[in-house]
Amino acid sequence: MRRLPVLLLALVPAVVHAQRAPVTSGQRPYVSVDAPVVALTHARVVDGTGAAAREDQTIVLRDGLIAASGPTTQVPIPAGATVIDLAGHTVTPGFVGLHEHTYFSQGSRTTQMTTSGPLAYLALGLTTIRTGGSMFPYQELNMQRAVQRGDLPGPRMHITGPYLNGTAGVGSMNRGLASPAEARRVVAYWAEEGATWLKLQGNISRAIAAAVIDEAHKHRMQVTGHLCSLSFADAAAIGIDALEHGFITNSAYVPGKQPDVCPAENMRIQADVDGKSAEVQASIRDLVAKKVALTSTLAVYETFMADRAKLNPRAMELLAPDTRREVEVTHASLGKEGLIVPTRLLEKMMEWERDFVRAGGLLGAGVDPWGTGMLPGFGDLRNYELLVEAGFPPPEAIRIMSLNGATILREQAQRGSIEPKKVADLVVIRGNPVATPSDIYNVVTVFRDGVGYDSAKLLAAAKGLVGVR
Ligand SMILES: [Zn+2]
Repeated sequence: MRRLPVLLLALVPAVVHAQRAPVTSGQRPYVSVDAPVVALTHARVVDGTGAAAREDQTIVLRDGLIAASGPTTQVPIPAGATVIDLAGHTVTPGFVGLHEHTYFSQGSRTTQMTTSGPLAYLALGLTTIRTGGSMFPYQELNMQRAVQRGDLPGPRMHITGPYLNGTAGVGSMNRGLASPAEARRVVAYWAEEGATWLKLQGNISRAIAAAVIDEAHKHRMQVTGHLCSLSFADAAAIGIDALEHGFITNSAYVPGKQPDVCPAENMRIQADVDGKSAEVQASIRDLVAKKVALTSTLAVYETFMADRAKLNPRAMELLAPDTRREVEVTHASLGKEGLIVPTRLLEKMMEWERDFVRAGGLLGAGVDPWGTGMLPGFGDLRNYELLVEAGFPPPEAIRIMSLNGATILREQAQRGSIEPKKVADLVVIRGNPVATPSDIYNVVTVFRDGVGYDSAKLLAAAKGLVGVR
């Protein structure tokens, strides 16, 4: 009688473990580790749950899943395993990036990062992304399918379809929605086309936004927004699932704000709002109570700060020559035109995110690539440094970039942390980003579904392609 459970235990893994897809010819040139059983030994592990870093750990990967994780002295290495000694390295979960884009807008042009986007995201440790609005929704969909097929390496993707706005003028790439009925029709269409999230943008009424959200939920999609006609309270009241950017985009604080209308001074006035006021703190509690998740995008706002923004030379190598020139011109004119983010506003955004998490809010992070020099992957890693600067302990910052993202995507049972039975999505980083945050850029190998990709080879393949393809 006592033997039966043992037999069952022996049988179950054989079923669960048939996960690892064969490496395709499109992935092969970038793959550095391809074995059914891999043991990563002597690594420092930050597991994504917020727990402190643990030294000298071993992680066993089997058929695309994490089979075991624990102290090297206690985790047996299976016979036949490919053993990789990671002394001096840190392993984190694969990053789950929200508010990612697969297009790049700089100067006068917007282009799709069909090839460069997936390569760069994966190279910098992003194994799962959710886009935050698409300018070229069919190119994005086709790119997602190409990555799924293995035509090129990249992260798994949740895509959002076209930006949904209340109006869309000549030249706009948004989908303008004139009525709730039209909104429902468009949402149902994108559900069938393959979007799993939708992004509300700009000037949209509560009635139309509510129709988008209700219809999306019927199709098991989620909705996020970068709004100005709706305050955070307006959006939370109609059931939005997430909001982008945080404090800076809450139009509630603009004097004379009219319902359903974007105020002129949004995203500047917030610099003079007291983040510790009863009104702001009540707004945070309202979002937490209504389970509205937030995406932190501190890194992109920093690129609008003349006194702080720096172009990352490694990131700039991804740009095509003419695109690079335009980015450099934009960077040189920082503080003279366009959005200007004063230091005190960035500090308020940081403090607001700390308060949101302290109040129980679910915070994820994303890059929001932009022509100010914010590139896929690189911006996600800059977020890590800024979250630490904001006061999050490093393991908590890693959690925001991994398990929290997976939780927002409702995939926390499958990925987002280093725990047995989860998908083997891992980032191997040379050095110790817990002690030295800038070490986060030293990505060596990225495991997706248990296959290890060489970060340097992925980046080399993306060189000079942003702005072209
Ligand atoms: Zn965006």
